[in-house]
Amino acid sequence: MVHTISNHFTKKVAIIGMGFVGSTAAYTIMLDGVASHVALIDKDKNRAEGHALDLMHGMQFTRSVQVDAGDSFELVKDARVVILTAGISQKTGQTRSKLLDSNVSIFKQIVPQIIKYNKDCILLVVTNPLDIMTYLAFKLSGMPSCRVFGTGTVLDTSRLRYLVGSALQVSPKDITAYILGEHGDSQFVWWSHANIAGVPMSKIPSCSKDFLEEIHQQVKNAVYEVINRKGSTYYAIALVIAKIVKAILLDQSRVFTISTVLQDYHGVSDLCLSIPTVIRSNGICRKLEVEFDNDEEKMFKICAKKIKDGIKETKI
Ligand code: NAD
Repeated sequence: MVHTISNHFTKKVAIIGMGFVGSTAAYTIMLDGVASHVALIDKDKNRAEGHALDLMHGMQFTRSVQVDAGDSFELVKDARVVILTAGISQKTGQTRSKLLDSNVSIFKQIVPQIIKYNKDCILLVVTNPLDIMTYLAFKLSGMPSCRVFGTGTVLDTSRLRYLVGSALQVSPKDITAYILGEHGDSQFVWWSHANIAGVPMSKIPSCSKDFLEEIHQQVKNAVYEVINRKGSTYYAIALVIAKIVKAILLDQSRVFTISTVLQDYHGVSDLCLSIPTVIRSNGICRKLEVEFDNDEEKMFKICAKKIKDGIKETKI
């Protein structure tokens, strides 16, 4: 199904997987008004087409955008960014790691299909377990590492800023604090460099060690709090996806804690983890070298070991 509105210039984005995350991301990208062309792909053609129709029925209120939909990977042709959300998601009581086997076999099927039609895109991985799936996409695609990355701990970082902001009554926008490492249970807060308007969090009287630990536990449990109540998470991750896509399409040089292929970074290599990274129209242009205190260094190594073990399980 192809509906042409206008095609004078294209800032095309393709989304693979039209479930909760993919469809909400399509909606959010459309509201952002930056993409001129969105392709929606799912193995369930009807679902992809249904979402396309639903989105286009609102076009009176958004910028005009060309929306294509179907089950053919040919639809990724000419896309600047291809977003991978295909796969199964966490169920109540499940960790992200439990999804590995099913999602690995889906990626082994779909990544070569994407490359067949578009070797020049940026691959943005959203499917969990995120860091392992990002590394798998990098390996299966054969693309340079600057063009294959995952949403990483951008969502966790947003949750952290929201929770710190609510507790201290400061806007999340004015809190500089990051979750680094795994998008999963071994993630950690880079507290040694967290600050509000330059004031280190450790110097703020209400930020006791117990308070910081409690906030971190809440960030780690945030996904389960949502899944236990409504089955899946999709609004916040859709906003994350849309902001990363915007940074690419508008060449914004934004810093995000995306999951990226690391080589000799704090002694770890050949895996994906989240660190602050600068993104431009060609993908990653710079990985920032961060300073860790002793505890953070240890936690980073724990994340690395967990992801390395996971990568081994995929047998790539
Ligand atoms: P969902 O089950 O609602 O949707 C998955 C979609 O993928 C389905 O529509 C399915 O038909 C499609 N699909 C499966 N195999 C396919 C194939 N071979 N080709 C094309 N389409 C295929 O799941 P969801 O809630 O949208 O979650 C998707 C993924 O995103 C999960 O792995 C979930 O854990 C992950 N997720 C990641 C984050 C993050 O921060 N990175 C946040 C939320 C969810």
